Amino acid sequence: MSNNTIYDALIVGAGVSGGFIANALTEAGMKCALLEAGRSFPSGQYPDNELDANALLYWGGGIELNKNASLGLLRPKGVGGGSIVNQALVDRFDDDAFDSWREASGVSYFNRAEMDPWYDAAAEQISIKTVPEEYANGNGKIFREGFEKNGYQYAPLERAHRDCRFEDGNCCIECLRGCPIDSKQSTAVTLIPKARAAGLDLVPEFEAIHVDPRKDLVTVIGRGGDGRESVYRGRRLVLAAGAIGNSRLLLMSGLEKQLPALGHNFYTHPQFMCLGLYDEPVNGHHGPLQSYRSADPTFRANGFKLENVFASPVAVAMLVPALGREHMQRMRAITHMGCVEVAVRDTNPGRITVSSSGKPIVDKTLNEEDRRRRDRGLEAIHNIFESTGATEIIKGNLAIGLHLMGGCNIGTDPTRSVATPDFHLHGFDNIHVADSSAFPNAPGINPSFTIMALSCRAADKIVQGAD
Ligand SMILES: Cc1cc2nc3c(=O)[nH]c(=O)nc-3n(C[C@H](O)[C@H](O)[C@H](O)COP(=O)(O)OP(=O)(O)OC[C@H]3O[C@@H](n4cnc5c(N)ncnc54)[C@H](O)[C@@H]3O)c2cc1C
Repeated sequence: MSNNTIYDALIVGAGVSGGFIANALTEAGMKCALLEAGRSFPSGQYPDNELDANALLYWGGGIELNKNASLGLLRPKGVGGGSIVNQALVDRFDDDAFDSWREASGVSYFNRAEMDPWYDAAAEQISIKTVPEEYANGNGKIFREGFEKNGYQYAPLERAHRDCRFEDGNCCIECLRGCPIDSKQSTAVTLIPKARAAGLDLVPEFEAIHVDPRKDLVTVIGRGGDGRESVYRGRRLVLAAGAIGNSRLLLMSGLEKQLPALGHNFYTHPQFMCLGLYDEPVNGHHGPLQSYRSADPTFRANGFKLENVFASPVAVAMLVPALGREHMQRMRAITHMGCVEVAVRDTNPGRITVSSSGKPIVDKTLNEEDRRRRDRGLEAIHNIFESTGATEIIKGNLAIGLHLMGGCNIGTDPTRSVATPDFHLHGFDNIHVADSSAFPNAPGINPSFTIMALSCRAADKIVQGAD
């Protein structure tokens, strides 16, 4: 099957970056096609149970593993990408993150003064609010009390949401499998519908498997949900398939010789979720999932941050150290569990390659420094649970990577980076990238707001270049 249109731009991946760039290019009058491997879910019709949600909203049926099975990778799939399943926390980078990016990449605009206007441009497109303190649930209260008792600093969370109807007792645990009331500002409800109204062609269930990057015409070959191949052509290509998706596609297209750093420099902010058991009910699944963020300078200096999200039952079940009847009995106490996780600002870059069948292989481990950072974080979590009266603490041993970053890192040196500071691949000025794959290293801060800001900046460059 073949589409005869020659698009001004093809965009592979309809997640955070894909949504922002598709909208900006379409608004600028460019004819674009947004190609997405996953499904498009109509408003309010996300899967209504955890197992279906894992299978339908993630690659690999919910979780993929690194090469030695020591790290679980959560890789979202579907129109909206990560913005469908994430917690929607939006944070600007601090000086520390930008300084380390400048050093790693040689790119001078990685500083707050030059990036702030692009964060502002992104913020204009979505609703960002804090979570009102009065709605904090039991898990949020444990987090706040534990921080106060231990002298740790915390701050209100900024989230990309419009109206979560907390006053109606809305239960936000559903948020992690797609917001049923379209409050979360996923690109599936914000920018993609806007762009479609302005003429964007959205093609869900199209998995790009090969790119042919000719000078004046880029061809993308892919297969649909029925397994049949089809072809799209455009004057330029925007890669927005995420850290693993972009590297995989370019590797499958045989571009590693021209791009020697392709697939290298992969980071994940490995997270370890811990549970505290309390005599009184915590009900961490009720109300807003999180109300506060850790803002402690000593945590930042030690390369970790804490998060207070409550996972849904399947994820919690994986952490409870028991089997059979005992496991069942312990899971009965789920409403009495508090949950805090540590996210490590990882320093050991991983590498993405592909198998002969096109399966991504992720070689990524924690080094000694990463383990030290994890242990400092686990110590702080222990202090929080202990000081707030937990009767038992279950230390998470399961490393999960859900901030997948790098593989097509931006930099000035074509031997050590994949993309230029102007967001095109070294040697290919009609292939652009500004999503999580472009990150030079792990910032230790939630990535999505910076992906939005970079995407706004990249879209501006693309539009200028197309004039
Ligand atoms: C559970 C969870 C919670 C998170 N919470 C937060 C948070 O609170 N704050 C925050 O900042 N970040 C959070 N993140 C991370 C954040 O969601 C990601 O960093 C962000 O979505 C990455 O954006 P992206 O545009 O690079 O890729 P994505 O949003 O992942 O989009 C990539 C899209 O490309 C598609 N794709 C891949 N390969 C192909 C192909 N070959 N052909 C066609 N399509 C393809 C994928 O299916 C996907 O839809 C969370 C992530 C998870 C999983």
